[in-house]
Amino acid sequence: MPKTYQANELTGIIKIDADKCKGCDTCKSFCPADAINGAYGATHEIDNERCLQCGQCLVNCPFGAIEDTVDVVDQVIEKLKDSNTTVVATVAPAVRVALGEEFGMEPGKLITEQMYGALKKAGFKIMDVNFAADNTILEEGTELIHKIQKYVLNQSVEGELGPLPQFTSCCPAWVRYMELYHPNLRQHLSSAKSPQGMAGPVAKIYGAEEVWKVQPEQIFCVGVYPCTAKKLEASRPEFTAAADYWKKKGHTATYQDTDVVLTTRDLARLLKKLNIDVRNVEPAEEKDNPLAEYTGAGTIFGATGGVMEAALRTAYFVLTGEELGELHFEPVRGLKEVKTAEVPIKLKENGQEITLKIAVVHGTKNVEPLLAEIEAGNSPYHFIEVMNCPGGCVNGGGQPINPMGTSW
Ligand code: SF4
Repeated sequence: MPKTYQANELTGIIKIDADKCKGCDTCKSFCPADAINGAYGATHEIDNERCLQCGQCLVNCPFGAIEDTVDVVDQVIEKLKDSNTTVVATVAPAVRVALGEEFGMEPGKLITEQMYGALKKAGFKIMDVNFAADNTILEEGTELIHKIQKYVLNQSVEGELGPLPQFTSCCPAWVRYMELYHPNLRQHLSSAKSPQGMAGPVAKIYGAEEVWKVQPEQIFCVGVYPCTAKKLEASRPEFTAAADYWKKKGHTATYQDTDVVLTTRDLARLLKKLNIDVRNVEPAEEKDNPLAEYTGAGTIFGATGGVMEAALRTAYFVLTGEELGELHFEPVRGLKEVKTAEVPIKLKENGQEITLKIAVVHGTKNVEPLLAEIEAGNSPYHFIEVMNCPGGCVNGGGQPINPMGTSW
């Protein structure tokens, strides 16, 4: 049963243009939440009470009839022009392999240095989302370790812990799916914030004090993601950790941790409006401040299985004292887009052996059989990654639609 929305949560991001819709049903086949109504041949409509805001219908509509209606490009340009505002871009890994397409470059080309050069030329300060993803990995991996200690090894562990299996929580469309359709299983979601949830407070607390040395109110945090659902996530009422922190120190301003989100398509439009072409911009070294540093583990968040692998490697190292070798996933017969693996673990303190069973799912609908196992009390898994978009964020709803590039 869909939940009631909180007043300030941004929904209705994705809309169908009735003048362009041919009623071909393609959008319905890509929607993970059965949120699109309309008979074949008739104009279709999105049911906002059911929609995850993932934009899969948008990137797959053959008639370009579906729009992302949240356009903050001009607002960000105004902030960039304001000398009293420090505009911090936090950029996700999947953006750098897709942005070039919007400029007519070869699809899938990695253009990290050109992208940073373009962002710096536009006036952004950089905080790489990979840095925040490292924080997510540490939190999520530590949470998993505590659950293994409590539920598998029967050790006493302090603090409240959700049950196993633990689900990843960094995909906002998946989190929304769980909240709307399986609210009774929400405790299985990791309590770790997504990289976007981590990035805003780090930029507005540590970044304000130590890196850019400005008042937190002067920082305007722009998430740059391959994802339309990140626009909803940034607007969630619980993501005000930086303002809450600064209020305890006498500040009065109220603001979101991430002020606005640009998709990859939005960033391309912004750069084009500023006459910046990633094809001939001076490439820039990204690691020019501590918040642009990262281990590289977060980079694999962009593809399906990446979040799971990064967090699992952390947990494995802490429990065994050794690096985890290559993971060998097997597709599950009869289950679409579900892969599983078994990871033997020999505890470093006493040599005890346990086996962790993990699963990776992409395409939110495909998780239903695994949720049914949990509800029936017979799930064999300890850790499950779910990413809404097919193949993960690289195929997100905010990625380029036309591989030949849009016009200037
Ligand atoms: Fe967004 Fe990635 Fe989830 Fe798709 S898989 S909804 S792009 S976070």
